[in-house]
Amino acid sequence: MSLNSPWRSDFPALSALSAEGQTYLDSAATSQKPQVVLDALMGYYASGAANVHRAQHLPGERATRAFEGTRIRATHWLNAASPAEILFTRGTTEAINLLAYGLEHLFQPGDEIVISALEHHANLLPWQQLAIRRQLKLVVLPLDRSGLIDLEQARQLIGARTRLLAVSQLSNVLGRWQPLTELLPLARAQGALTVVDGAQGVVHGRHDVQALGCDFYAFSSHKLYGPDGIGVLYGRGDALARLKHWQFGGEMVHSATYQSADFHGAPLGFEAGTPAIASVIGLGAALDYLGSLDAAAIAGHEAVLHTKLLAGLAARDGVRLLGEPELALASFSIEGVHNADLAHLLTEQGIAVRAGHHCAMPLMQTLGVQGAIRVSLALYNNGDDLERFFSALDKTLELLR
Ligand code: PMP
Repeated sequence: MSLNSPWRSDFPALSALSAEGQTYLDSAATSQKPQVVLDALMGYYASGAANVHRAQHLPGERATRAFEGTRIRATHWLNAASPAEILFTRGTTEAINLLAYGLEHLFQPGDEIVISALEHHANLLPWQQLAIRRQLKLVVLPLDRSGLIDLEQARQLIGARTRLLAVSQLSNVLGRWQPLTELLPLARAQGALTVVDGAQGVVHGRHDVQALGCDFYAFSSHKLYGPDGIGVLYGRGDALARLKHWQFGGEMVHSATYQSADFHGAPLGFEAGTPAIASVIGLGAALDYLGSLDAAAIAGHEAVLHTKLLAGLAARDGVRLLGEPELALASFSIEGVHNADLAHLLTEQGIAVRAGHHCAMPLMQTLGVQGAIRVSLALYNNGDDLERFFSALDKTLELLR
């Protein structure tokens, strides 16, 4: 299979970056955008910005139609039952904070929230802080050696006091699909709510929230080739009905007096204030773009690149891979070499990779490392990107060793 991406030319930033000598291998942090997304952003502003849902005039009506069009596209993308199950948030982080506040009233002291040891801070801290506010117990599911949530232990730890399970679908550090089809039923059997952090998972393949059987699924547009500042929270209808409102203001209110108010249900009741209209429209364009591509071809291309990445790392002395990544990325450190030095010298050679704790400090502690370098791939990467990375890595190691 060719290592050249047939989609690379759809992304103007890739040639701009390469003209500057930059090799972009940090797509798990954020992705570059296809021209159609840039056109959608520009098209909205150039044809007349307007607020959504409230204006009677033509630009307002046009903006509302485009904005709600994205909600319909996201409904299809996730196979939600209805557009009313799609809430726009600022991103995955805000979606999970919304849940931690909106569901707070359901918890009693001593109840348990279950997460896993590999969670991004976005799917740890909102629950940790809720646990502190309500005197709950935060239970952390351990991992096996390959980087999977350990199901045996999960069977022991998910129990009668479990009220909510919140886990990542695909780790941003370990690059493994988590065993959600086994895990989620354990929580459901206890009558607990289930939350899936789809920030990384949504980028790779199509996911059906009804088949997954989760109550909530969150993702960010900016990782899925769409604009930043916007994300999606899917909630199953009856799970959404249990949420209390959390941010108050324009748009979310049905009627108000000075002393009281009553609020819309989902989705508008959870979208207070003027949303990121252009970004929502841009996300719609990203979903149209991705929907027009051959998903199997994308997965195949990414798999070939990933194999090359792992083979290249395995061929170098002293590389310590974190877990056993199966797609999209690889995190590693190198014996005797400080991550910060490695990152610095790679950066100097125009290699854009991520270094540090990857917003998962407790995971780093569990793995016994200070941090790691992460190379992450997207549909627009070519084999050459990896060759440039490996030659920069070799030069760096020659200098540091
Ligand atoms: N969860 C995971 C697994 C992530 O990788 C990220 C982004 N690094 C987030 C949550 C948070 O996403 P955002 O910053 O877009 O809210």
